[in-house]
Parts: sequence; structure tokens; C-alpha cells
Amino acid sequence: MTLAVYASSPSKTRGRRFAESVAPTRTDYQRDRDRIVHSTAFRRLVYKTQVFLNHEGDLFRTRLTHSLEVAQLSRSIARPLGLNEDLVEAVALAHDLGHTPFGHAGQDALNDCMAPYGGFEHNLQSLRVVDQLEERYPAYDGLNLTFETREGILKHCSQRNAELIEQSEPGGVGRRFLDRSQPSLEAQLCNLADAIAYNAHDIDDGVRSGLITMVQLQSVELFERYRVEALAEFPDLAEPARARRLLYETIRRMLSAQVYDVIAATRQALSQAAPASADEARLAGPLLRFSPAMHAQSTALKQFLFAQLYRHPQVMQMTGQAQIVVRELFEAYSAQPSEMPAEHAARSDAARAVADYIAGMTDRFAGREHERLTGRKLL
Ligand code: MG
Repeated sequence: MTLAVYASSPSKTRGRRFAESVAPTRTDYQRDRDRIVHSTAFRRLVYKTQVFLNHEGDLFRTRLTHSLEVAQLSRSIARPLGLNEDLVEAVALAHDLGHTPFGHAGQDALNDCMAPYGGFEHNLQSLRVVDQLEERYPAYDGLNLTFETREGILKHCSQRNAELIEQSEPGGVGRRFLDRSQPSLEAQLCNLADAIAYNAHDIDDGVRSGLITMVQLQSVELFERYRVEALAEFPDLAEPARARRLLYETIRRMLSAQVYDVIAATRQALSQAAPASADEARLAGPLLRFSPAMHAQSTALKQFLFAQLYRHPQVMQMTGQAQIVVRELFEAYSAQPSEMPAEHAARSDAARAVADYIAGMTDRFAGREHERLTGRKLL
């Protein structure tokens, strides 16, 4: 792996919160990735929702398969740009660790419940998972990851939370939200790859579920262009029996076009800004980017998915039920902490302990717990 001057290099890491000796054969970022893959929170991603609830079908994306797709896209963009593949993989695999059950519906409900106690942000929760909540090492809480991986995991953060982080970790991962600088290029890349991944797989899952159709998608420029291109090269894909192959071929071409667009546009931005180090890149504004034309097309696709899929009545109905489940779980555990495992029940920060417990749940565990505590089955 040949790293560009602006890439994050393990030899220049800002290190871990608790000093450790270096591993004999692995770099610090490889080691971060390995710790993430072996974590409990990572295994739970397999039963957490992206858009569709886990029990609605076995072929829909979950947070785990989504994270793997983000890692794949991030690595294929990182290599030609000379960025650190190990770091992008670590950040991509960890980026959704703090997600609640039931996707954004769960997170919104938990944020409402936690409003009097500092709120709930899933990015900050991902950082809490790797910094505090994982219990795997004798000497410290969390996974003791490097600064660069933690910086990438904390994608967004409110001003208030950034100030709190800055108090406990001066000059740490909260600082950039206060001084408006950027994270590493590898972190910027994971952010973009996240959007590329869900835009593509939500088309696939949306069509598979029957909630959106290929005909509706023809109004989306980014999709339609590659559908027409695929049909021109393989006219037999127009046969109804080959509709699924047409969908896959269209999505495949769409994904490739976006990957090559990001590589070209970012190369241009990098050659203009010419950062001589990873730290200079942090001060140069966002450099990982689409071309203006691709940016507009990607935004249009996102708007389509928002209106036609995420706001689909069937999805909204599920969302409403999921929010009730989270709210009632929060109420039940707050009233009776002994219903939680002892290590959560014993905590002095009672509301945060409840939020941490609920956030860690898989969709199906949350559903089962809700049924046990309320006697009602909502999902
Ligand atoms: Mg994501």
C-alpha cells in the first residue's frame, strides 16, 4: 500500500487514550479494525434495521451488510487516491455501531425520551460504544482505538456535545466541531461512501419490497441513464423474466459511475489544495467530493428515496409502531430499573443507562422485551 503525503499514516497516529505497545505484525489501524470486528456491538448489527425491519424479510440490508458495503466502497476509492485502506475499513465498519434498533425511527424516539437528559445522537453513541460501553479488556473500558478511527466515527456532533467532549478530552475528537476544521480524508471518504451505499441498496430493497417500482425510478436521472445504457447493451434485459438482472446491472453501473466520479473530482480538489500532510488536509475544507453534476444527481436520488420510500405509508406505519416500542421500553426501565441487567440498573446516571441499554438492542430483542414488559405485541 503506497500512501499519499496527505493520507493518514499509522507512524504519525495521535495514538490511543491508554498507551499500548505496538503489535508485531499489524499497524494500529489494522488493529482497530480487528477490535471492531470482534466487538459485541458489531455482531448486533446483523439484527438491526436499516430501512426495513429485520423480520420483514431475510434479503433486506441490515446495519451489518450496509457497513460491509460501505467498507467495500471506501476501500475501492481509498486505494487509487493513496489513502489509508486500513483506516477507512475501520471507520466504515464502526460507523453505525451506535445505532438504535428500528433505524432512524428508534433514534428519534430515544432522542425525544432523552431530551431532558442531554438527548441522544447516534454518532456520539457510536463513539460511546468504542470508548466506554464495550467491555473486553482488563485495564480499560471500550476498545481503546486510535484518535483517527475515533475521529472518523464521530461524524456529526452538536455544539453542546462537542464542548462536553472538549472538556474531558482537550484538543480531542470534539475540537473540529468547535473550530470548523475537517476530519481526515479517510473519514471524509467513509461519509461519502455511506451515502453512495444506502442510495444504491435502498433502491434494490425498495424494489424488492414492492414499495417502489422500476417505472417510478425512471424519473430519477442517475438511475434512468444507466438503465437505458444497460438495455442498449443487453436488449434482452427488457424481458419481464430478466427484470431483476436489469435492476442489478443498472445499480452496478450507477455505483461504478459514482465511484469513478468521486475519484476524479477528489483528485482535482487535492491537486488544487495540495495538502502536504494529513493535518494540512484537515484544514483545507472538504476535499472528498462528487463533481457538481454528480452531486446534483445524487441529491435528486436521495430526494426520490425520501419521498417515495422512507415516507411510504407502509414504512411510516412501521416507524410509528417502532417509536411506541422504544418510548414504552424507556418508560418501563425508568420506572423499574431492576428489569435491566444489573450493570445497567446499578448505574447512577439512570436515564443514560436506560438509553445505552435500549440503544444496544437488536430489533427483535427490543420487540421481545416490549412484549414481556407491556403484554402487547406491536411488531
Ligand atoms: Mg451508515
